[in-house]
Amino acid sequence: MGTSGCPWESACTLPLGDTTGLVYAHLRAHNFIHNHSARAGCPWPLCSREMRWGNVARHILERHLRMRVQCVFCGHTYSRNEALQTHMNVCMEVSHLAYRQR
Ligand SMILES: [Zn+2]
Ligand SMILES: [Zn+2]
Ligand SMILES: [Zn+2]
Repeated sequence: MGTSGCPWESACTLPLGDTTGLVYAHLRAHNFIHNHSARAGCPWPLCSREMRWGNVARHILERHLRMRVQCVFCGHTYSRNEALQTHMNVCMEVSHLAYRQR
């Protein structure tokens, strides 16, 4: 995988988005083009799940990109790992303080 996380072309610099719109734009760039109401296989390598093409981007986001990461202290979810790390540093302090005050 390249820096963008693209599974189809390691040199690909297109972002593999946070949104279904970006995922479809990316799929089009690699010539995965279908009618949204047609059934098609997931184009992700080693995944052959068939579904309506209109559901494929959401499936890729949830199954293959797992964009959301979760804070172990409060359960907040973030779409970027860096944002979670920053939050966890603060959240850990706060939950430690709350624990000590009991
Ligand atoms: Zn790509
Ligand atoms: Zn898939
Ligand atoms: Zn938290």
